[in-house]
Amino acid sequence: MPKTSISQILNSQQVGEIVSLEGWVRTFRSKRFIALNDGSCQSSIQCVVEYADFEEEFLKRITTGSCISLTGNIVASKGQGQSIEVEVKELNVLGDCSSDLYPIQPKRHSLEFLREKAHLRLRTNTFSAVMRIRHTTSFAVHEFFNEKGFFNLHTPIITSSDAEGAGELFKVTTLPLENVPKDDSGDVNFDSDFFGKSTNLTVSGQLEGELGALALGKVYTFGPTFRAENSNTTRHLSEFWMIEPEMAFHDLNDNMDLAQDLCKFIIDQVLKKSKEDLNFLDDRLAQEEKNKPKEQRNSMGLIEKLKFVSHNNFIRCSYSEAIEILMKSKPNKKGKFKFPISKWGVDLQSEHERFLVEKHFKSPVILFDYPANIKAFYMRLNDDGKTVRAMDVLFPGIGEIAGGSQREERYDILVEKMKAVGINPDHLDWYLDTRKFGSCIHSGFGLGFERMVQFVTGMSNIRDVIPFPRTPGNADF
Ligand code: ATP
Ligand code: MN
Repeated sequence: MPKTSISQILNSQQVGEIVSLEGWVRTFRSKRFIALNDGSCQSSIQCVVEYADFEEEFLKRITTGSCISLTGNIVASKGQGQSIEVEVKELNVLGDCSSDLYPIQPKRHSLEFLREKAHLRLRTNTFSAVMRIRHTTSFAVHEFFNEKGFFNLHTPIITSSDAEGAGELFKVTTLPLENVPKDDSGDVNFDSDFFGKSTNLTVSGQLEGELGALALGKVYTFGPTFRAENSNTTRHLSEFWMIEPEMAFHDLNDNMDLAQDLCKFIIDQVLKKSKEDLNFLDDRLAQEEKNKPKEQRNSMGLIEKLKFVSHNNFIRCSYSEAIEILMKSKPNKKGKFKFPISKWGVDLQSEHERFLVEKHFKSPVILFDYPANIKAFYMRLNDDGKTVRAMDVLFPGIGEIAGGSQREERYDILVEKMKAVGINPDHLDWYLDTRKFGSCIHSGFGLGFERMVQFVTGMSNIRDVIPFPRTPGNADF
C-alpha cells in the first residue's frame, strides 16, 4: 500500500478509503482513541481501536511517545473536534516508549525545560510548528531570489580573512593544542597548520559575495555563520544562518527596496503556506500575553502583526533624523535610557532602536546614512565626508533584523579607509582587485535567518527557532 501522511489524509478527506499510517502516539484515551502524529502537520489524526479486537497486554504498549503503524478505514467522525477518523483494523508497535521515563508528556512544558531536552523537543506541537515554519521561511528565501534572477553562491565556511571586523572569531586549527609551535617572538607559528596560515570560521560571506556580484550580477549566500561573542541575549547565537544578497549596479535605495521586498515576501509566504502552524502559534502567544501585566502586553496578535508588516511600507529615516527624534524623546529627557543620547555620532543601542520602531514610528524602520566611524570600512562614504551609505532594518520585538550598505567601489578611498582602521590592504589584495579591475556601484546586506524566524513565529528566544542552538557554554546534541 502506498505510504500516506496525515497531512495528505486530512487535506483530501476521502471517507471510505483504506490507509496505512506510521507515526508517534500523542495520547491514548479510554483504551480506544489514539491521537497519532507523524510530523507532517500540526494536527494529529484520531484512530479508533475496537477494544475487543486486541489483547489487553498489547494495548498497554500504546503509550505517549511510542511509534506505531496501523491500517484502517477513513470514516466520518462521530465525535467532536475532527471531521474524519481512522477505524483501526491492523495495529503494530514499531518502537516502544518507556512512558515513565519519557520527558515529553501530554501537558504544557516550559520552553526552558524543553531546551534541556532539545533532542526530543521537536516532537512537541510548539517546536514542530516552529520547525515547519522555519522550512517555509528558508524555502521562501530561495524562491524570492530565484524568481528575481539571483544566483545562489556558496561562500567558504573556513576563511583566512579576519579583517571583516564583523565579530569575534572561532579558530580552526589542527595544531597540537598541548604543544603549539611558536616563532622567535613567541607568537603562534601557523606555517605547519593545516592551511599554512591562521584560519577561522566565517563571520560573513559578504566579501566573497561581492566577488560573485561583480561577475554574475546578482548573487546571494545562505549559510551558517559563526560569532564567538559572549553575548547571552535572546537575539544572539554562536552559530546562526545568514542570508547575504550582493548586487552589482544597485545603490542604497535599491538595496533598501530589496530588503523590504524580501521581508514582505517571506511573511506573505508564511501567511499563505503555514496557516495551521501559524494559528497554533498565534493562540499560544495570545495565552502567553494573557499572563503578562497589562502594560507589557503586545497590542497585536501574531497573525495581525504579520499582516500589518506585509501590508505597509517600512519607514525610512536617516540616522541624523533618528538622533533628533531620540534627543527630543520622553525617555531620553526623563533619563529612562540606559545610554542617554546627547549628541550626533553615538552608536544606537537596542533600547533606542526599539523606541523608534515600537513607540515612535510603530512600524518596521530602515535607518540609513550612519556616521562613518561607527560602521565597517567597506561602506560607501557620502559626499559629506562623515556619513556612509549604511542601512539597518529594524523590526518590532526583534531590533536589527538586517544590516547592509552600498559598498565603497572607489579604490583609493577604500584603501584609505582600511588603513584608518588598521587593516593592512595587502591582506585583502584579492578584495581590492575588484576595485582595480572593472569596479562598479554595488550593494548588499545580511539578514539574520533566525531573527526572521523569530519574527514570523513570535518566539521570544532565538534558542527556540533553531533545532540545536549553539550559545556560550552550550553545544549539546
Ligand atoms: P547585532 O548588533 O544585533 O549584534 P550585528 O550588527 O553584529 O548584529 P551584522 O554583522 O550586521 O550583525 O549581521 C547581519 C545580521 O545577522 C544582523 O542584522 C542580524 O540579523 C544577524 N545576526 C548578527 N549576529 C547574530 C547572532 N549572533 N545571532 C543571530 N543572528 C545574528
Ligand atoms: Mn549590523
